[in-house]
Amino acid sequence: MPSKTKYIFVTGGVTSSLGKGIISASLAKLLQSRGYSVTIQKLDPYINVDPGTLNPYEHGECYVTDDGAETDLDLGHYERFLGVPTSQANNVTTGRIYQSVIEKERKGEFLGKTVQVIPHITDEIKNRIKVLGKTGKYQFVITEIGGTVGDIESLPYIEAVRQLKWELGHDCVVVHLTLLPYLSTTGELKTKPTQHSVKMLLESGVQPDILVCRAEHKIAKELKRKIALFCNVAPEAVIEARDASSIYEVPLLMDKEKLDEVVLKKLGVNETTSHNLDAWREFINRLNHPKNEIKIGLVGKYVELKDSYKSISEAFIHAGAQKECKVKLEWIHSESLTEEVIGEKFKGLKGILVAPGFGNRGIEGKILAIKYARENQIPFLGICLGMQCAVIEFARNVIGLSDAHSREMNPATSNPVIDILETQKSIVNMGGTMRLGAYACRLEEGTIARTVYGKSEIMERHRHRYEFNNEYKSKFTNAGMILSGMNPVADLVEIIELPNHPWFVGVQFHPEYKSTVTKPHPLFLGFVEAAMKR
Ligand code: GLN
Repeated sequence: MPSKTKYIFVTGGVTSSLGKGIISASLAKLLQSRGYSVTIQKLDPYINVDPGTLNPYEHGECYVTDDGAETDLDLGHYERFLGVPTSQANNVTTGRIYQSVIEKERKGEFLGKTVQVIPHITDEIKNRIKVLGKTGKYQFVITEIGGTVGDIESLPYIEAVRQLKWELGHDCVVVHLTLLPYLSTTGELKTKPTQHSVKMLLESGVQPDILVCRAEHKIAKELKRKIALFCNVAPEAVIEARDASSIYEVPLLMDKEKLDEVVLKKLGVNETTSHNLDAWREFINRLNHPKNEIKIGLVGKYVELKDSYKSISEAFIHAGAQKECKVKLEWIHSESLTEEVIGEKFKGLKGILVAPGFGNRGIEGKILAIKYARENQIPFLGICLGMQCAVIEFARNVIGLSDAHSREMNPATSNPVIDILETQKSIVNMGGTMRLGAYACRLEEGTIARTVYGKSEIMERHRHRYEFNNEYKSKFTNAGMILSGMNPVADLVEIIELPNHPWFVGVQFHPEYKSTVTKPHPLFLGFVEAAMKR
């Protein structure tokens, strides 16, 4: 067991989107399966302070941690793979780095010195990396550097890695992820882009210790030797990362390639432990051998970009595997839904999920989808905005408040069944100001929620400004809606359900953020089970 925290950096070269997040999470999984404590951090080179204000079309879903950080979606992968919560400290952007350096400058903390990229920005980056090690909780800290080597905006991060390599010596390794493109005309994998990207790292003074090479085909021994020779690494430190059928196969592929063994050796850790990947293999086995298949409709407005709902689609994979059922998601654009086409579009669907979201676009399609699910007894799960739409639909079509709406979509509505939180009214800044992170929720006896969770108090993560309007509580309950989950402190409605329906649940929070490979989320399990019964 290492006595000091070891630091592992993961950089990327050649192109973006090679899957640094999955490689980092897979390496972490392998180390964890040997009994080590590991955390993963993502450094993002953009200037936004966090991704909370970004459109999902930019970088996909915004993930939320227990402590209310709005983060990159890679943190979702880290939690899904490791089953260990991340926090604010696990995602840092250039914007945040500069923000804190400038705040210190304004307070006079630099004592009259000129504030510069080196050393002030790089010191701040190094502190943000080491802060995780200093908690004393982790034997390994894996830091994924966003972007691609050679980008102007990544330079301060690479420089921080160079300095840390010098300071930490044997307690630090650099894993560089590259691509070996395949030329079909000659039937060859090409190594030149990898050589160039390593040269680029070397120009910044960083010699990678391990190369993980993405490739469509097997990398022959000869080729590995060639890469090793040109890039100054040991041949066994050239790791093949073949395209996998699922991201969850990657830890097993990396195990075969002995990625963690090579890492441990480089870090001087004498390895005596062995892997326990039983639960993981069991999951993969169930995932690959489903006994059933169902189609669930995911109604949202960013469906062209599936990364916008990453945690939701992964939560279905976890729940589906447990239930030995392949859940096929049918992505349905809420703007495309009308009374005329909905029957055709929803044909064959065993369940309908209405996704989270912001703003008015596509809202009437979401409400229509919910009406259809309610009237046709189709299992329904509404998440955040999806729950709010279920409240609006019920108000309009069951209670009879025909102009009911959310204050977000129609500030002038005479029936704001979803209204802005009192504490939100005076807020003008957009970034980091929503109701964010984990809050308690008490569950009513005898409800679907109480049954699926199997306990009476839960913690779930939030990310919203608007809320069920308690002035309408009795109108809803008199008309039959069940308010099955309440925040015990603020008395906010967190879960709604309908009786006389096989499975109709709306939640103000985001259950998808807490679903992991070895612990699928109870609500997704319940929803999939109900859909399978249909
Ligand atoms: N737009 C809604 C709100 O702010 C719902 C947010 C969401 O779905 N995450 O309350």
